[in-house]
Amino acid sequence: MRPTGKLHLGHLVGALENWVSLQTNYKNFHLIADYHALTTNTDTSELEQNTLEMVIDWLAAGIDPNKSILFRHSQVKQHAELHLIFSMLISTSRLERNPTLKEQIRDLSIDNLSYGHLGYPVLQSADILLYKGEVVPVGEDQVPHVEITRDIAKKFNNTYGKVFPEPESLITKFARLPGLDGKQKMSKSVNNTILISDKTDDVLSKIKLAVTDPLKVRKNDPGRPDVCTVFTYHTKFNSKYENEIRNGCETGTLGCVECKLKCASSISQTIAPIVEKRSSLENKIKDVWNIINDGESQARKIAEETMIEVRSKMKLGVLN
Ligand code: AMP
Repeated sequence: MRPTGKLHLGHLVGALENWVSLQTNYKNFHLIADYHALTTNTDTSELEQNTLEMVIDWLAAGIDPNKSILFRHSQVKQHAELHLIFSMLISTSRLERNPTLKEQIRDLSIDNLSYGHLGYPVLQSADILLYKGEVVPVGEDQVPHVEITRDIAKKFNNTYGKVFPEPESLITKFARLPGLDGKQKMSKSVNNTILISDKTDDVLSKIKLAVTDPLKVRKNDPGRPDVCTVFTYHTKFNSKYENEIRNGCETGTLGCVECKLKCASSISQTIAPIVEKRSSLENKIKDVWNIINDGESQARKIAEETMIEVRSKMKLGVLN
């Protein structure tokens, strides 16, 4: 994940929840993608604070540093080295076809794409393959990047000999949670989020602004839950009452105001344990940095073992 600050519900349902449940059966590596954060914002003045906020959210949501490794990109130099090698194994046209890149260019109105942004999936391939990742738990937008990772792994293995697995994406049911505007996916850069650290009042005031079915103007108008963002949130955060909400909306017995109150309350209940754990972690900043630094030592060791194999297969700098 890119350290862009506090996390939102899209991060939670698209990735973080999955990470927490996977850590029982897998050895997880959680990358604080600080180099990747530069693709959409080259201002680094808030990077350190954003890193901290994100990792506090990870820990508050249940990531256990005794089971999983948490580390920053920039502190494990092997990522940059493997990225450079991989950048020779993929064509620019393959990268230009990346649908996630096209979406970003459109949504963020990028008219001057950087070389590094085009190469985002190449660095991501290095991030995954340095640890010989087999399963990559991501949201829908990252699936094309995992496909590129497989292409690069195949190309490397065919050219120099087998080092890497060909990883698979593991997506959740909510791999693309819509934002409050109902148009785009929930994303910090388009300012349509509910944070997983939002207090009850904030959740409610944000949900009040959420876009619903434009044809349901009065409470008694029959609504179309399938075009309503708030209903999507109900299906995730209030799933027990999903059918009741659908029925009430469609028959005009449930108005948008009441529906939004119910939705805000179910979201707040879901995130309440995270909000609570977060407030205790906020007083233990030093411990949080220790967890990150410890993860970095572990990651460096594994990354270097892989690079020794890579250099040897490529006959790069190996002494006879
Ligand atoms: P990013 O902040 O773009 O680095 O995303 C971190 C992870 O969260 C990736 O696996 C994304 O696919 C996932 N993610 C981000 N936004 C959403 C969303 N709105 N719905 C589902 N997953 C998301």
